[in-house]
Amino acid sequence: MRALIENLWAGWRMNFLQQEGEPDSLRAPSSCVLCDLAKGEGQAFDARNYVLHRGRDCYVVLNAFPYAAGHLMIVPYVHEGDFLDLSSEVLGESLELARSAIRALKEVYNPEGFNFGANLGRAGGAAFGDHAHFHVVPRWLGDTNFMTTLAHTRVIPEALSATYDRLLERLHNG
Ligand SMILES: [Zn+2]
Repeated sequence: MRALIENLWAGWRMNFLQQEGEPDSLRAPSSCVLCDLAKGEGQAFDARNYVLHRGRDCYVVLNAFPYAAGHLMIVPYVHEGDFLDLSSEVLGESLELARSAIRALKEVYNPEGFNFGANLGRAGGAAFGDHAHFHVVPRWLGDTNFMTTLAHTRVIPEALSATYDRLLERLHNG
């Protein structure tokens, strides 16, 4: 399972690295894709990488390999792996952004519930245990289990770019 997740993230990173027109600084990224996304700038970069919002201490990005349509992540800018070492400011903004994201997702997708939380450490299932982040996953009654579905090919009923456009509008107008 862990290897699969790592492969998925590696694939995402590969796409990221191969994009045309990036400044050289982004072609030699750090060892952390979440930091690479944090350092990116401009509307075009954000749209290509599905960054929905940049706050003071955290940003919001669609998961490029979602468990469900609208699966997004709230990521502190700081490269900190230990949840216990995140500042009160970071944790506070994470919750605020989670609320905004859940509000937007409710308006766009009307899900019947949500998973919201974090995988802490490798044993907790974190694909990148060294950069703590939070997941928001819309859920519907009868949808498949959060974890077991990871082992199978997922059919997401909407392209990521369409999800991005819909949520971007809600987040910025709501
Ligand atoms: Zn990082």
